[in-house]
Parts: sequence; C-alpha cells; structure tokens
Amino acid sequence: MKVDYIIVGLGLAGLAFVEELIAAEKTFLVFEDDSQTSSLVAGGVYNPVILKRFTPVWNAIEQLKLALPFYKKLEEKLQIKVDEKFITKKSFKSIEDQNNWFAALDKPKLVDYLDPKLDTHNYHGVLADFNFGNVKHTGRIDTQKLVEAYRDYLKGKNLIRFENFNYADVELKENTVNYQDINASKIVFCEGFGIKQNPFFNYLPLNEAKGELLTIHAPELKIDFLLKSTLFVLPIGNHTYKVGATFNWKDKTSIPSKEGKEELIDKLKKVINVDYTIVNQTAGVRPTVKDRRPLVGVHPEYKQLVVLNGLGTRGVMIAPTVAKNLYKHLEKGENLDEEINITRF
Ligand SMILES: Cc1cc2nc3c(=O)[nH]c(=O)nc-3n(C[C@H](O)[C@H](O)[C@H](O)COP(=O)(O)OP(=O)(O)OC[C@H]3O[C@@H](n4cnc5c(N)ncnc54)[C@H](O)[C@@H]3O)c2cc1C
Repeated sequence: MKVDYIIVGLGLAGLAFVEELIAAEKTFLVFEDDSQTSSLVAGGVYNPVILKRFTPVWNAIEQLKLALPFYKKLEEKLQIKVDEKFITKKSFKSIEDQNNWFAALDKPKLVDYLDPKLDTHNYHGVLADFNFGNVKHTGRIDTQKLVEAYRDYLKGKNLIRFENFNYADVELKENTVNYQDINASKIVFCEGFGIKQNPFFNYLPLNEAKGELLTIHAPELKIDFLLKSTLFVLPIGNHTYKVGATFNWKDKTSIPSKEGKEELIDKLKKVINVDYTIVNQTAGVRPTVKDRRPLVGVHPEYKQLVVLNGLGTRGVMIAPTVAKNLYKHLEKGENLDEEINITRF
C-alpha cells in the first residue's frame, strides 16, 4: 500500500494535521493505540488571557482566528456540536489582584477580552471575597466528543488502524519510508507524551505534566460561566461541572490518583460551598515543553520523519495553526515559525 503520509496518533495534533491532508487531497493512514488520553480528558477551554498575570497567551489571538472557524467547520462536517461559548469569570484573590486587572485593561491585545466593569454579583454557592472580572469571547471545545467523532469518521473511510505503531518496523529508504505493508513519503508523529517511546524524536525536551480533573454533580450550583479561581469550575450541563486541574511533574501515568482527587477536593472547598457528588475522575499527561513552545519540524537526519507535538496546556488554540504551518512547510516550502521549529534544540 502506498500513501503520502502516515500519521501516528489521533489527538488534537493528529486531527489538525489530517484536516490539512484532506483539504489538499493527500493520501494517508493513521495509527492510534489509545495509550495517551490528553485530548480525551482536556478541559478544552480556549482563553487568550493568562489569568494569573493578566497577560496575553503567546500568539493566542492569531491562533483563535484560525481555530474557531476550524472547529465550526468540523461541527458541520461531523454533524456534532463541540464549541460552547461562555464568559470566564476570574475570581479575584485580593485588592492587589483586582488592581492588576485594571492595569491590564489598556494592553492592546487584551482590550477586546477584559471587561472594564467589575462583576459584584453574589452567585449562590460560590465563595468570592473580591468580586469577579469578566473575560469575554472565551469558550470550550468538547475535545472528547470531537476526537471520538473524528476517529469514527476516519474508521468509516478505512483511514485509521487502531493499533500500536511499532518504531522498530520503520525502514528508511532514500526518499520514502516503509512501515510494514505501507510505503509513505513521510511519517508525521503526533503522539503527545507517547513521544518518549519514539527513538527518532525522544531527544526533544518534553517536560510533561500530568493533569487530573473531577466531574461533579452539584444541583444547587447554578453557574453558566467558567469560574476561574484556584481551580476552574466548568459547567457541562445537567448541574454537572468539570473541576480542575492538577499539575504533577513526577507521576507519568494517565491513571486517576487518590492524591489528585484529594488535592482537587481540598481546593474546591475554597471555591464553592454547596453539596456535590463526584461522578468521575480523569487524568492525562500534557505534552508540555521546557520553553513552552510546540515541537514541530523535520528530523535533522531523516527528512521523511516529522514531528508535531508539544501543544502543552493549550492544544485547542494552538493545534490548527501549527498543523497548517507544518503542512505548508512540508508541501510548499514555507518557513516554519522559528519559535516552534525543533531546530532550536
Ligand atoms: C487534565 C488536562 C486538562 C487540559 N485542559 C486543557 C484545556 O482546557 N484547553 C486546552 O487547550 N488544552 C488542555 N489540555 C492540554 C491538551 O489536552 C493538549 O494540549 C492536547 O490534547 C495535546 O494533543 P496531542 O494530540 O499532541 O496529544 P494526545 O492527546 O496525547 O494525542 C496523542 C495520541 O497519540 C497516540 N499514540 C501515542 N503513541 C502511539 C503509538 N506508538 N502508536 C499509536 N498511537 C500512539 C495516543 O494514544 C494519543 O491518542 C489539558 C490536558 C490535560 C491532561
């Protein structure tokens, strides 16, 4: 079998790159072994403002211009609803926190997002001593629904194999690459934290961070915005909320832990004071990078081997932009953004 591309991994990175291939009518085959869960458990939030420091997220406004139409197109193509828009309410920790918010209002990149009017409303069940600041134009992509629907779509077209990609079977030819029964021009590796098993790219400095989330049912809590305090409380319907997330740089498994649960319960006590039950706990490893920039580009020795990784904590916003940049680099000779190019390592 001959294809233009083999794609290893169908999370947000793989999905965004496959969309480029389909648009250009390239042939491809995807491998997915369910070893990583990041795109399945992600909160899916998009917000171009760092709410600790009130600074813009790297390139986020430009990324959102591409990402929002990208997800809208996927909603139409897959006949699903995944983009839910809402306001994010930052619960201020102190007067100083509030003052920093006011000081940030003038930043040109934030002016469309930060609402100058403080929200002084009391929301039943929400603990907040210093009011809220509204961040406009934020929302959430239901990444689990999207990724699962996309895998089904590829399955229906026989374009995905649900099996482990075995690196030992890669056979490099002069201009192409063989993998088992397939000959491809290129392999694009989109394995998230799975890159650690990849002998061609595991030299890249991933500084992965496990994250855990709880799903709670809190019938008395009635909020239709994303509440951002020491953790986030994200409404997902039917009085159910996702609560998270933890950051753990030691545990490298995708298994929900007792410590993660206790940490979230403990923090949640300071955010809401209504009864709730825990209905689910999930975990995944975020592919975060030491310099907080994606890992994209062509292998220094083998030009048939390519990586698309390092989406970190913000895969929803970043994936469509970096996938497009990579595709144009490979097929049209356009430059890769130096900040994301793996040649920096
Ligand atoms: C708790 C948590 C909360 C998060 N919240 C947000 C958020 O609110 N907003 C946001 O934008 N981002 C969030 N993220 C980050 C986001 O999940 C990531 O940036 C993104 O999902 C990474 O996508 P990816 O495709 O690079 O990696 P992954 O999602 O890990 O996908 C890689 C895929 O490759 C497959 N794979 C790996 N190795 C192989 C192999 N050898 N053979 C076959 N298949 C293989 C894996 O099974 C996996 O499906 C969160 C992450 C976590 C863990």
